[in-house]
Amino acid sequence: MEYRPQPKASVERDAGQSVMLEGRVCAYHPEMPVRQRCSMCQAGICVTCDFEFPINIHVCPKCVEAAMNKVSADRKRAAVGALVLATWSTIGMVVIFTGLLARLVQNELYLALADLFLFLVPCLVGTGIGVGAIERRLRNPPYVWVAAVWNLILFGVLFFQMVINNLMG
Ligand SMILES: [Zn+2]
Ligand SMILES: [Zn+2]
Repeated sequence: MEYRPQPKASVERDAGQSVMLEGRVCAYHPEMPVRQRCSMCQAGICVTCDFEFPINIHVCPKCVEAAMNKVSADRKRAAVGALVLATWSTIGMVVIFTGLLARLVQNELYLALADLFLFLVPCLVGTGIGVGAIERRLRNPPYVWVAAVWNLILFGVLFFQMVINNLMG
């Protein structure tokens, strides 16, 4: 059988660089000696795996990824919120534009308030949250785009409605 060198604890000891973590190998690279400990999960990590942050914080790739996923979980919530608002203001838009609301609500003030809370406010908030959920540096799942674009279309309709109202008024 062919001889294959097996890097073991003795190799690291000879290197003499990782005295404190002597005899340990990287949690992700069994052939690499441990140089740091992950500040979050305490896993031993090699030079390649070490994500170094200021004030001597070292994080392993798994914990970096977990932190990234947490960020995207927040964006997911924002996108879902924007989708709910877009649904709400679409329904609002339909009842307003079809004149259904005007038939149900006779009072001018109530009608204006209904217009505000059924369409104007959810549309503006939804556009803000939806566009805010887009992270240009990261990959955006389709629903993030749908949430933003849907709200922007409603916003466009709202803007168009205001222009028409101004022209006619
Ligand atoms: Zn870790
Ligand atoms: Zn490693």
